[in-house]
Amino acid sequence: MGGHGSGRYAAGLEKGKETVEQYTHFNINFLAPFLKKGKKLHLKAEMKSNPISKLIVDPNEMYIELEYKKDQEVIYLDKTPCHFGGYRYWFLCQCGKRVGKLYHGQLGFACRSCYDLNYVSQQYAKTDCSYFIWRMYRIANKVDPEFNKQGLNTNFPIFKPKYMHYKTYRKLLHKFELYRFKGERVWIKGCSLIVNRRF
Ligand SMILES: [Zn+2]
Repeated sequence: MGGHGSGRYAAGLEKGKETVEQYTHFNINFLAPFLKKGKKLHLKAEMKSNPISKLIVDPNEMYIELEYKKDQEVIYLDKTPCHFGGYRYWFLCQCGKRVGKLYHGQLGFACRSCYDLNYVSQQYAKTDCSYFIWRMYRIANKVDPEFNKQGLNTNFPIFKPKYMHYKTYRKLLHKFELYRFKGERVWIKGCSLIVNRRF
């Protein structure tokens, strides 16, 4: 086989050349034709070497589900009307930004500015509970943009914004709880180390 669009970076994934583009990225242009047709896409990689092993696109629910390097990801989509009719589609990054490209790294799929900023985040180790708190805040900020201004808060916002699907809200809540659980585990482990040292 071989040729353009097949092999390792098939299914919309591209490997870039410049700095941020060293990350493998996923372009909305790959999905746009399916979204425009309102077509449900259920793609299982035909080739073992393909890094995306699952891709589900449901234009009615405005999200995609994919599996990449054993990471299961749900990516939300958004659309804005075009001047000449129809819609333009976007990925909705974890930070709430509408973007055309997502990069894959430590945060999973996230936008360029997330990874630019997150040379800082990459310094967090997953053995550090602030890493999990930081991820919880990013998720909660999608529901309540004021969340990170309320001081240390580990409770998910109880009010769902009107524009958000209930399903989306539930998924964010679930993700938030998962990070809280992981963070607490790391925190307790850290405490037990201190306790053991002192007594
Ligand atoms: Zn982002």
